[in-house]
Amino acid sequence: MERLGLGERGDLHLLGGSRGGKYPSGNSLLLEDDLCLVVDPSLDVAEAGASVTSRKVDLVINSHAHEDHFAGNSVFEDAELMLHENDAPLMASLDALMAGYGMDEEFDTLWRQITVDKFNFRPRPDARSAVDGEVIDTGRNRVHLLHTPGHTAGHLVVRFEPDDIVFVGDLDLTTFGPYYADASASLDETVASLEMLRDMAPGLRAFVSFHEAGVIEDDLVGAVDRYLAVVDHRDRRLLELTEEPRSLGEIARECVVYGKRYEHIPWQPFAERVMMERHAERLIARGELTREEDGRFRRV
Ligand SMILES: [Zn+2]
Repeated sequence: MERLGLGERGDLHLLGGSRGGKYPSGNSLLLEDDLCLVVDPSLDVAEAGASVTSRKVDLVINSHAHEDHFAGNSVFEDAELMLHENDAPLMASLDALMAGYGMDEEFDTLWRQITVDKFNFRPRPDARSAVDGEVIDTGRNRVHLLHTPGHTAGHLVVRFEPDDIVFVGDLDLTTFGPYYADASASLDETVASLEMLRDMAPGLRAFVSFHEAGVIEDDLVGAVDRYLAVVDHRDRRLLELTEEPRSLGEIARECVVYGKRYEHIPWQPFAERVMMERHAERLIARGELTREEDGRFRRV
């Protein structure tokens, strides 16, 4: 596993995921300060095990309760676990976690199995709830937990000071764009959280994203703008598709979000449908789209 030093004091490390952190892998962070913590231990960390550090890990922070972000939690079983107060309860049981995803019944059984067998889900009713703005003093660093809902209701970004490095979790600044298909997800909150990141960007040294992008040091504002532009692109595609009335199922089959059909992602049809419905609601609220009596959508 690639271990890349970040920051000035040599105690903050990127634990780079395989294939550049492409899902289901991801990039984790390790801070070896007086207090030793790991943010989002990935599948790669799960495979590497405790050898990723010679230190005893005191604290694991999950940016949110998603399978790829908690896959390595069990490596540090004795460490305290922390999530935002909206997502911490999802870690208490497999039922709670599944309710958070809110997937169709047809995927539920399969998803339970994958979450446990591949991503090592173990119930953590002891997970501690963090609140927005909570600061952890680790010795030489201060770690700020900032609530950035939208991807899930309790998504956090983690700011390291004095290095001014922000781990952005699944606001991952990829070319794919943001994902907001969970039961607790929100398109409007995702956009608001990204606008907050963009406002923060000029004072930062780097973003670190869980997937793909990794360490971003140049043009941080542009990176957020390009990511936000994907949301606008999805809006425009929906308006093009609804020149003639179309049902949500017909819209989902166009794969606006994924670009093409991925047979190995069983939840893709679900995600396309949920996310495009959220775009439809946003465009209806703006007066650019209407829902006809038969349920089909039409551009105004
Ligand atoms: Zn996620």
